[in-house]
Amino acid sequence: MDWDNFARLGAEIAEWGANYHRGIGERPVRAPLEPGAVRARFPQSPPETGEGLDGILAEIDEKIMPGLTHWQHPRFFAYFPGNATPPSMLADFVASIMAQQCMLWQTSPAGTEVETLMLDWLRQGLGLPEGFQGVIQDSASSATLAAVLTMRERALKWAGNAAGLTGQARLRIYASDEVHTSVDRAIWIAGIGGDNLVRIPTRGPLRAMDPVALRAAIRADREAGYLPAGLVACTGGTGTGACDDLRDVLAVARDEALYSHVDAAWAGAAMICPEFRTLWAGIEAADSLVLNPHKWMGVQFDFSAHYLRDPKDLVKTLAISPEYLRTHGKGGFVNYSEWSVPLGRRFRAMKLWFVLKAYGLEGLRAVIRDHVAWSQQLAEVLRADGRFEIVTEPVLSLFTVKLAGADDAAMLAYVNRINDDGRIYVTQGRTKGQIVVRFQVGSFAATEADVILAGEVMKSLAG
Ligand code: PLP
Repeated sequence: MDWDNFARLGAEIAEWGANYHRGIGERPVRAPLEPGAVRARFPQSPPETGEGLDGILAEIDEKIMPGLTHWQHPRFFAYFPGNATPPSMLADFVASIMAQQCMLWQTSPAGTEVETLMLDWLRQGLGLPEGFQGVIQDSASSATLAAVLTMRERALKWAGNAAGLTGQARLRIYASDEVHTSVDRAIWIAGIGGDNLVRIPTRGPLRAMDPVALRAAIRADREAGYLPAGLVACTGGTGTGACDDLRDVLAVARDEALYSHVDAAWAGAAMICPEFRTLWAGIEAADSLVLNPHKWMGVQFDFSAHYLRDPKDLVKTLAISPEYLRTHGKGGFVNYSEWSVPLGRRFRAMKLWFVLKAYGLEGLRAVIRDHVAWSQQLAEVLRADGRFEIVTEPVLSLFTVKLAGADDAAMLAYVNRINDDGRIYVTQGRTKGQIVVRFQVGSFAATEADVILAGEVMKSLAG
């Protein structure tokens, strides 16, 4: 492809993309098709000779579009959102054109320095203390893995990477049942073993880890010969938005010399609004925390912001410097590949720059505040209807609800009726042992009317 064709097709793609988004609300949110249907539309072997890209947009419309679940749809109320605002799409395009590989400062001084600055802008927006330093990870799962590896190495006095875990004391990590499964995975991958993830009971309306039980578990483990290594707390757990009381549990971690990590993958974005920061009061004592601007801040996937109170332990765990990666003689810079599991990294900071420049913190706050208010209004509408039971009250914009008296089979059928209808998309969850509708407002395209319509759909299909 020559650059004239690139420019022509690039402009056509921008026009096609704008049209897709202008009409996205008319489409069913979730792809109504059977597994294998998308693949069947393609030739099953690759072209021997290049065909060029003429007609590619028509082919996308025919083959790909019917197979999309529309994450940017205004009535996407499932999972957590994966917002991609127009500025972040353009930024990703720009980053793709520059095609940087930002593993070292030397391999992309601009990529590195803009990453440092953007994460500092975001730190200020979140109200985190000066001194916290950030790095962009591809996902919250990667940030949590990096934190768990740090817990392991710190507890083993840095012997694990070199000698492996054979013959070492059995490590223990502590978390509640409300944390995301990425914590379990991190513990498997780190070789610590899922049996050594100690689940601490929760209490209170926010389903927060009991700090007394946490301390007791750590002490009992020490007496039994285990080696307590770390604590993973959550602000805005996936199922119901559970929030640990960070002041309490991080104090226990500090007293017991455990490395602490806070998963705020979804709720962290809301902390740009000062009024929501009570949900993570005490965060300044965390060793490590992660939030996903790719969820609720409009920054196109992939973009997880991982903050460290002091990156020293993380870098000591992950840095590996063969001769060809050394950048002799250049002091005063960061090589971010030493802060993450993958070596290679894209110029992801471009996306946060575009989004902050386009909306400003105040523009982003307005979106999040609306979502929280509309979600809380909907919970009240459903409560007032009389046929629904709010199982967990809204935490920010997430609540769970069920049809009063319905058993699990009836609830699963209800969720399927809602999603087959196509006007809205929700996910089911299991809360307090029962199947519930898990409802969150988070799409940047959503309006109040979309949330009101969601209530009407839920009521009309309640049976
Ligand atoms: N933590 C929480 C609380 C989540 O809700 C999720 C995903 O929804 C994750 C972690 C994993 O996020 P990622 O896909 O960025 O790994």
